[in-house]
Amino acid sequence: MPKIWTNSGDSHFLEPSDLWESRLPGRLADLTPKSEKDPDGEYETVHVDGQSFRRKLPTSVAREFLEESRKAQGIRDARARLNDLDQEGVWGEVIFPSLGMWASTFRTPELLKACMRASNEWALEEIAAVSDRYVVTAQVSTLVVEDAIAELEWAAEQGFRAVFLPTTPHPSAPDWHRTDWEPFWDAAERARMVLAFHIGTDPVDMTTGGAGLIYRGPGGAVMNYTETTFSGQRAAMKLVASGALDRHPDLKVLISEGGATWIPFLGDRMLEGYRQHHMAVRPKLERDPKETLMTQVYASFQHDETAVAAFEAMGYRNVMFGSDYPHMEGTFGHTQDTLKSLFDGVSDETRLRITQGAFFELFPQVPPVPTNGV
Ligand code: MN
Repeated sequence: MPKIWTNSGDSHFLEPSDLWESRLPGRLADLTPKSEKDPDGEYETVHVDGQSFRRKLPTSVAREFLEESRKAQGIRDARARLNDLDQEGVWGEVIFPSLGMWASTFRTPELLKACMRASNEWALEEIAAVSDRYVVTAQVSTLVVEDAIAELEWAAEQGFRAVFLPTTPHPSAPDWHRTDWEPFWDAAERARMVLAFHIGTDPVDMTTGGAGLIYRGPGGAVMNYTETTFSGQRAAMKLVASGALDRHPDLKVLISEGGATWIPFLGDRMLEGYRQHHMAVRPKLERDPKETLMTQVYASFQHDETAVAAFEAMGYRNVMFGSDYPHMEGTFGHTQDTLKSLFDGVSDETRLRITQGAFFELFPQVPPVPTNGV
């Protein structure tokens, strides 16, 4: 059976841990995150931006998990990465940063701004310059709206086509549904930048080291992974209900790693709220919330068995495959097996829309998949 080529709406890169320290001037470099591990290896103290936090280090199981997903050389090396992609049958990729998870712990606007710029410059030099198959996501400070706008506009001029946004903005900033963000949505629409949210990127809780709610006890591992999904749904809900997407019909959103079938479901719920609670609904929208969600929000999934049905049976066109390279939840090492089982007995039209069409709609600058393979 020939290789099934796909694009990925969800891939990752691991920057050098000293990227910020090495690129910022001394007084700011001193404030970038630094970890001091206890001799017994159970806890670490993290110093960041003049604050210190104690947090439990990952257990040996979690550490093994982390190491496993960092074995792929391509997570640190954009050239080596191309071999993995060709092997797996992945063509274009939306690439998310790893260091950006610290951004929610910063409190000095100038520091965060400088770190985001350093990351963006580094990503241009080390990833984007290597191949036009890479759609690198720019990073912006979500602590100050004006800083976010300035960085987004700079990034668009440099050729970035997507901006990574955490599912909840910085804890000291207004939430995504607030009108404070309106000028940012204006700027993104004007610059034709895709808003790329990755699930599980709510602010870091420094006592647990995790983003958002953390469960312990029976079922914890499954609950914690599943829980990350909801943050992506909340971000989409806020952008639709607040009218941000209604007022910016050319603005496109990608929610990565959160599956796809939730879009029609959430659309139903929002439509019901909009219709049945119309007396309380503000603002009124030009188009109903389900239509906006279904047309302006794209969703990437990896193994989800029901994702194809969201396209075929529920009228949701913006279903996009994502490999989550090279994370453990992803398909690295078995992408072809996954694609073959997902698209077994499925029409070419459906398969091409999910593996390629939805992605190229957002990122038409990525060259087409060679028809005779690689
Ligand atoms: Mn991912």
